[in-house]
Amino acid sequence: MAESGETELVVLGAGPGGYTAAFAAADKGMQVTLIDAFEKPGGTCLYVGCIPSKALLHAAKLLTDARDAQAWGIHFGRPEIDLAALRAQETKVVETLGKNLLELSKRRKVEYIRARATFADSRTLRLDNGSSRRFKHCVIAVGSSPIVPPSLKLESARLMDSTAGLRLEEVPASLLVVGGGYIGLELGCVYAALGSRVTVVELTDGLLPGVDRDLVRPLQSRLEGQFHKIYLGTKVAKLAETAEGIRATLEGEEIEEREPTFGRVLVAVGRRPNSRGLGLENTKVQLDDKGFIRVNEQRRTTDEPIFAIGDVAGEPMLAHKASHEGKVAVEAIAGEPAAFDSRAIPAVVFTDPEIAWCGLSETEAKRQGREVKVVRFPWGASGRAATLGRTEGLTKLVTEPETERLLGMGIVGEGAGELIAEGVVAVEMAASARDLALSIHPHPTLSETVGEAAESVYGPTTHLFRVRR
Ligand code: FAD
Repeated sequence: MAESGETELVVLGAGPGGYTAAFAAADKGMQVTLIDAFEKPGGTCLYVGCIPSKALLHAAKLLTDARDAQAWGIHFGRPEIDLAALRAQETKVVETLGKNLLELSKRRKVEYIRARATFADSRTLRLDNGSSRRFKHCVIAVGSSPIVPPSLKLESARLMDSTAGLRLEEVPASLLVVGGGYIGLELGCVYAALGSRVTVVELTDGLLPGVDRDLVRPLQSRLEGQFHKIYLGTKVAKLAETAEGIRATLEGEEIEEREPTFGRVLVAVGRRPNSRGLGLENTKVQLDDKGFIRVNEQRRTTDEPIFAIGDVAGEPMLAHKASHEGKVAVEAIAGEPAAFDSRAIPAVVFTDPEIAWCGLSETEAKRQGREVKVVRFPWGASGRAATLGRTEGLTKLVTEPETERLLGMGIVGEGAGELIAEGVVAVEMAASARDLALSIHPHPTLSETVGEAAESVYGPTTHLFRVRR
């Protein structure tokens, strides 16, 4: 029990990590206070991240699907886009989910306080409404914020981070996206579908750094048709506002125009943990050299009563990783055996085609010098992909040669984000490729590509025949 005057559990930050932790704790009978600077739970994910971006990507897909329908003899004509109505629909989705979360808090008797809080000491939070809260346990779930490098800082309404990009104030004639990571590509797809001429500039030599190249290739070739330009190995050295827009100075080889001007610029070069300005210096909580809060496998920090989860507690910065950590931390607080030991945290890039992977990737296996067997099933051999007119996809499995155990899965193609769930379960349950091959997958579906990729570990499959040498 908590001492009188102290709350049993205070959760600081009501994003997917924080509200999941708060709800799980309340469901275990704990007395819980959830504090967030925003009026409702949801965090970055709901208000300026996962949900609004996916709502806009849905609209973008309607547009590109309508265009692709021409190949099937169906012509819709030129789309008319009512931007205000599109924004209203995006807001409606977000508001509805936010209201539901607040209702779920109330029903669980979680006390929700709208305030910004900082640590006064290891047992006390100071709130910006003048009050303070003592706690027995605290879970820090304050998330992350977009990085804008000093060289790209500019006082201009035309310069956007992802939050401003999602507001969709206008569809500029031209848009520069700085950063070829998933956030830049997802938002680039939205603006391109709505009619902007999109240029993407990525500093490293490939889009989606770190992701297996064979998964990126089909996406890149489709984006090359949708975007105006994709510059790789190129740096945006400077931005300057002019009467016409923002002039960017590009540094790299094979650049057609070194100082092009854009109607708007979106900077999506990464995010940093919100660990600064939290008063952590008044506690024993330690940070690592990237500013993430140091935690153990239970998500306990170096200050015993304090836990940390989600983006502020380390990579990968993904909502489902935050929620899972929230449950683990609460189990640990409740004295139950708990550890964050996932083998397969899935990641999805919601472009079209989507890219999804989980577990060990081929790139990571190479980096570790680990011997693996990789099999690929090209969607050109999938009946379902043919019916969708989307045969560019690929399903690949990474297996352990001696045991045939599935270590990882990667998919590029329509609906990859849904398909990867099978890989997550298989990797977590230590399934072998044979387990997948012997499981009957429904026909005609894209999930058959998983089953047949698994069969190909053992030789030719029904739709894949390679002459043995
Ligand atoms: P957050 O969701 O960041 O929530 C932190 C909360 O803490 C915020 O509400 C903030 O107001 C509050 N807070 C911070 N400091 C204080 C303080 N001192 N006092 C009170 N409150 C405070 N992830 C996915 O898994 N899938 C996706 O498709 C996806 N798409 C994304 C798209 C975009 C454009 C962006 C930006 C992110 C996306 N993400 C996606 C990442 C995802 O949003 C984050 O990983 C996730 O929100 C992290 O959850 P969290 O609980 O750690 O923190």
